[in-house]
Amino acid sequence: MDYEAVIGLEIHAQLATDTKIFCGCSTRFGAPANTHVCPVCLGMPGVLPVLNARVVEQGVRAALALGCTVHPVSVFARKNYFYPDLPKGYQISQYEEPLATEGSVAFSMDGEDHAVGIVRVHLEEDAGKSLHEGFADSGRCTYLDFNRSGVPLIEIVTRPDLRAPAAAAEFFQRLRAILTAIEVNDGNMEEGSLRCDANVSVRPVGETRLGTKVEVKNINSFRFLQRALEFEIDRQTRLVRGGGAVVQETRLWDSGAGRTASMRSKEEAHDYRYFPEPDLPPLRLAVDWIETVRAGLPELPEARRRRYVADYGLADRDAAWLARAPEVAAYFEATAAACGHARAASHWIQGPLTHRMKADGVEIAAVRVSTGALAELIGLVESGAVSGSTAKDVFERMWETGASARAIVDEENLSQIGDAEALAVLVDETLAAQPDAVARYRAGKTGALGFLVGQVMRATRGQANPQVVNALFRERLERDD
Ligand code: ADP
Ligand code: ZN
Ligand code: MG
Repeated sequence: MDYEAVIGLEIHAQLATDTKIFCGCSTRFGAPANTHVCPVCLGMPGVLPVLNARVVEQGVRAALALGCTVHPVSVFARKNYFYPDLPKGYQISQYEEPLATEGSVAFSMDGEDHAVGIVRVHLEEDAGKSLHEGFADSGRCTYLDFNRSGVPLIEIVTRPDLRAPAAAAEFFQRLRAILTAIEVNDGNMEEGSLRCDANVSVRPVGETRLGTKVEVKNINSFRFLQRALEFEIDRQTRLVRGGGAVVQETRLWDSGAGRTASMRSKEEAHDYRYFPEPDLPPLRLAVDWIETVRAGLPELPEARRRRYVADYGLADRDAAWLARAPEVAAYFEATAAACGHARAASHWIQGPLTHRMKADGVEIAAVRVSTGALAELIGLVESGAVSGSTAKDVFERMWETGASARAIVDEENLSQIGDAEALAVLVDETLAAQPDAVARYRAGKTGALGFLVGQVMRATRGQANPQVVNALFRERLERDD
């Protein structure tokens, strides 16, 4: 029997506010432990939380960008559990009446369209952080840092619409692209600004009921998400094939061991005893205001991808790549506009430019080659003034020196030799010097033509126009027939 996987994700994204959700403490990452704290986020008795308006605005932006309906009234609740990093003994989170519900995220992958339903988007506060290593008395004690306590989060819950680990990882990347494009999340997964719990079950192909799910907690990279899901699907499939049953439980991904391990079973699951937060009134949003927020959203990556395919004739994959980050998209659009060759711009940005950015650790905002300068280089290639292989060298010089393509080509005499008369001399010399290749060509081995063209390209250090050289050889080889 064949089995299929069913996957749903729960994502926690830190909102990009300067201050916490219910107090004025800074949310900045990396400060010395317990320096961004006050009585509110330390959970002292007798203090009152005050909701940060920017948190609400960013949460609404995110919900709208994910296609959700934002509710005019939502309610904060207390989620009660005991843990040392939760000083109040409860987390304030939206539960029964969340900020937004019923969204959808569409994306394409390998030419196939996917849509993932969004069950809900709600607001909540983060807990502090337990530190188990790196202190003098770490062998005996757990240390606590409350800087993160009260940092604003949105939780995004998807429907179980995903069927493959690679699609889940792709979806998570697209989600990150959306959240960063609308500037509600910095996308920094190492710092924990974006993390995901993956729910996964298996069932026989054709079965419509859901199988028993396992939740893999706190995954902080796309690759780990994919690998954890692959491992879990394999584990669960073997289990049911062997006549066993999947146990509903929470597991953790161990990236070192490359496996998931049980953390707690359903029996040990918490009863959170939710009840409405008495210190916060229901959150009421004016419908007009929600629409104002919607009107302020920028173009989203998926819409941009479709525009690139329609307007520039780019392949799906290229369009998706360029459309993902707004800065890259802006660089691409400016280059394409300046040179009029969108596909060439796409090629240069994804290829040589990205290569150098990665090698030198440079972000696109800090790239020295301006969009106008890259456009000029592309123009030189497209007009035939510079050959493709020379252009790569010119680009490297532009990257290093900041000089213009034109200046480098003129200074170093790198113009492509497109002059048929000059090239004809070289072609004739090559024909005379390579009688074997000529004979092979005449014997029907057309591959010999490539060899002959290669000789001229080598003699000109790649500066000959290969189309012209090719035509000259053909003309001569056929004429003498
Ligand atoms: P719980 O009550 O355990 O939190 P939910 O119904 O709220 O479960 O779903 C939590 C997440 O798990 C959602 O992303 C949902 O899509 C996913 N999910 C629910 N049931 C399954 C299942 N049987 N297999 C895979 N994912 C599931
Ligand atoms: Zn505080
Ligand atoms: Mg749930």
